[in-house]
Amino acid sequence: MPELPWLDLDNYDIIDISLPVDSKTAAFPGDIQFSRNVTLTYADSNVINLSSFTMSPHVGTHADSPIHIYGDMDKGEGMASQLPLGAYMGQAQVIDLADCFEPITSKHISSLVSSLDRSKLAPRLLFRTRHQIRYDVFENNYASFTPDLIEELQKHQVKLVGIDTPSVDPSDSKGLETHHALHKCKMSWLENLDLTHAKAGFYTLIALPLKFCELEASPVRAVLLKNK
Ligand SMILES: [Zn+2]
Repeated sequence: MPELPWLDLDNYDIIDISLPVDSKTAAFPGDIQFSRNVTLTYADSNVINLSSFTMSPHVGTHADSPIHIYGDMDKGEGMASQLPLGAYMGQAQVIDLADCFEPITSKHISSLVSSLDRSKLAPRLLFRTRHQIRYDVFENNYASFTPDLIEELQKHQVKLVGIDTPSVDPSDSKGLETHHALHKCKMSWLENLDLTHAKAGFYTLIALPLKFCELEASPVRAVLLKNK
């Protein structure tokens, strides 16, 4: 097998599609926001600043793992550390639906799919639904995905979907049907992206979850690479 071609990053623009994480970053109602505890200061120690932090792993741009929606957190299965890394790296397509505040269905993409050669639909689809992101405000009314969209995308060998809203399900969802549809279709997903600077088109996505072995989600630093 030949090695992968060396990616000369000087030839690429790096578009950061991650939300900032600080004490103002909005959390899903009931979730714990980011907070920092400075445990040692340079002024006191003359050596280092040191801190610890607390937050729900769903604050900011993140990947959910299967244990988020079923099973026993103490069994060690379906954790963030076990997410398939290959899903979070590779060719991606930004689909611009902004401004959209309703669930995205298979109808939203049917025109797009028919206008594209099948082979051109990327295996990772990121849905831009907002022109502007206010990262410090939880917006109740946001776009999400319907289970029928996920089943349709599975037919196109999509491995990952992403969205610039807090969840793939609506805020009032009780059963998290879209989370379950994604799990059933063996697809990965990213939530709370910031796609304000990503135009519709094709990119390389890198958004690796951290190796958290005891958590049901992980923050990611999500970027898109685009040829200059
Ligand atoms: Zn989540």
